[in-house]
Amino acid sequence: MIKDDCIFCKIANGEIPSYSIFEDDNFKVILDIEPSSKGHSLIIPKAHADNLFELDNNVAEKALIVAKKAAAGLKKTLKCPGINILQNNGAAAGQTVNHYHIHIIPRYDNDNVNISWMHETFNKDTADAFVNDVKSNID
Ligand code: AMP
Ligand code: ZN
Repeated sequence: MIKDDCIFCKIANGEIPSYSIFEDDNFKVILDIEPSSKGHSLIIPKAHADNLFELDNNVAEKALIVAKKAAAGLKKTLKCPGINILQNNGAAAGQTVNHYHIHIIPRYDNDNVNISWMHETFNKDTADAFVNDVKSNID
């Protein structure tokens, strides 16, 4: 399914031009227009899904294989010593385009990419109850 007002639907299906490094029946992989590092790319499914939770399982299964393939090609080309693969769901998590996509971010020693978080203290008192809660919510 394609959503009318969705820019990534238009890019993935060729209505809007992009710098595509890979394409198959289900995905287009393009260069990010505001890259955080040289080679920053996006894996975009051709069928619209707002986020991971709406993504078809068949497409979800294939997405990581495309990520591996594209990341390997970028690594070979750029000789970058590291690569982050990440994916945002929801504005609180930094998602700005509401069409599921995976970021591939090549990393270089002393680059300007900043992916970090503070570590909170693990709460052993509530961990068992929390684990049981979550288990009951996983299908
Ligand atoms: P996110 O914040 O995870 O939703 O990521 C959206 C990404 O899409 C950002 O890194 C943007 O730079 C990128 N982006 C937005 N519009 C375009 C576009 N027309 N072509 C390529 N990348 C885009
Ligand atoms: Zn879309």
